[in-house]
Amino acid sequence: MTRTAFVYHPIYLEHQTGSGHPERPERLAAILQEMEKAGLREGLINLAPVKCRKEYIAAVHTDELIESIERLSGPYLNHVDADTVVSQKSFEVALYAAGAGIAAADAIMEGKADNAFCAVRPPGHHAESNRAMGFCLFNNVAIAARYLQHAHGIGKVLIVDWDVHHGNGTQEIFYEDSTVLYFSSHQYPHYPGSGSMQEGGSGKGVSFTVNAPLRAGCGDIEYQQVYAKMLLPVAEVFKPDFVLISAGFDAHRDDPLASMRLTEDGFARLTRMAVDIACRFSGGRLISMLEGGYDLRALGASVVAHIEALCGRREASF
Ligand SMILES: [Zn+2]
Repeated sequence: MTRTAFVYHPIYLEHQTGSGHPERPERLAAILQEMEKAGLREGLINLAPVKCRKEYIAAVHTDELIESIERLSGPYLNHVDADTVVSQKSFEVALYAAGAGIAAADAIMEGKADNAFCAVRPPGHHAESNRAMGFCLFNNVAIAARYLQHAHGIGKVLIVDWDVHHGNGTQEIFYEDSTVLYFSSHQYPHYPGSGSMQEGGSGKGVSFTVNAPLRAGCGDIEYQQVYAKMLLPVAEVFKPDFVLISAGFDAHRDDPLASMRLTEDGFARLTRMAVDIACRFSGGRLISMLEGGYDLRALGASVVAHIEALCGRREASF
């Protein structure tokens, strides 16, 4: 059985976004509740995140951005953009969200776990080097990628992003980089507007950004076909030393923020594909970090399916 770590901290509930905001603390409560119901907590290695050191965040973000998030985190809700909010504890919570990837990376590289799921908020993949946006403050997955390279000598990192929105931040941070391959499937056209097929990297990074823009209404079968046709061949050539997943669950058919039709089983199948890539090339090393997912029931059930596929418990249903 695969040893899967689960990284979580109650401080993630303290990033307040105001009433009616879809990116709310209840998302994580729903995940924990579904995991409990499924009897999933016992078999996992429970890991606490570390408070991410600023130097690791500064490896992908400018000092101006880091300082502005710290400054804006105060007693009142402050808007970073139209839909991105910071409150009293947001800066500290964001450090712990990034620190989940750090703790998971250390555990895997020290041989204490094979792979990990990080149930974090705020999410990260829209955060660009100098701009927080789209509910995201710091780019958790990008920070984890750079940390793996700098602290653990990992060479090539594959980031698979199946959040229904394009991860413009991750793309921007690694656009000219040939050591981090960014693959994104997303509803298109849709927020944030980027992610066309033509966006494929520049300079040394040409062909190391791979976008799979999908029309609204795609479901399990379409996603599986696209991943088989576009992700697998690219992974085969790239041969990643580590696999990261930007795991958003807002492409679920019940999600209120988009119009895709994935089911829990569809997410499990995508997970198995990523796990297979990690097993073939990366010694199984894989970290998945929560991004979006805004229907509480669908989110909880999808995360359970995702974790079951990460630890090999769901294979029987295929
Ligand atoms: Zn999203």
